[in-house]
Amino acid sequence: MIQRYQTNRMANARGDPWGRYAHRVTTLDLRALRLRPGEVRKETLDVELEPFVLGGMRYEATPATVPAELEISQASGATVFDLRLRAHLSGACMRCLGFAELEPEIVAREFYDPDAPASDELHSDYVVRDHLQVSTWARDAIALELPDQILCRPECAGLCPTCGKDLNVEPHEHQERELDPRWAALEGIRDEL
Ligand SMILES: [Zn+2]
Ligand SMILES: [Zn+2]
Repeated sequence: MIQRYQTNRMANARGDPWGRYAHRVTTLDLRALRLRPGEVRKETLDVELEPFVLGGMRYEATPATVPAELEISQASGATVFDLRLRAHLSGACMRCLGFAELEPEIVAREFYDPDAPASDELHSDYVVRDHLQVSTWARDAIALELPDQILCRPECAGLCPTCGKDLNVEPHEHQERELDPRWAALEGIRDEL
């Protein structure tokens, strides 16, 4: 039995050249695959997900390691990779700072032809020195799937801009005079005229 994939500690090549935040990266060794045309190979890999930071907020994957289904097939000179995984992320609602969670489901495809030029669609950026960077790919695919705003629920009322109270718990409005003391001062002047 050939060891086709490995999980090892290495630096995130993008953004962390010094390896200070070294983490576990799952890669698939393509040299060991030896696929015949038409053959389909299925692998289940454990992918470790680092927390995602969005709009200054941190969203943890729980569990941090998720199983990813990888299907590998050979089509007219190129290798086709199909990735499927489901993650669970949780963190703060971007409107009310309450608990928010989401379950991004990923279906992604990459093509790889070792002879394709770098600009070509068949040149996957996730294949580095004959290794498919499953962790990096999975992470990017999840990031693409995340909404612009992560909310506790779609109709979250957010925090009151005046007093900061949670408008979901305590729906209220403020009188305009209360809202801005300068208006009160102006009204005082008007009364004097
Ligand atoms: Zn909310
Ligand atoms: Zn208020």
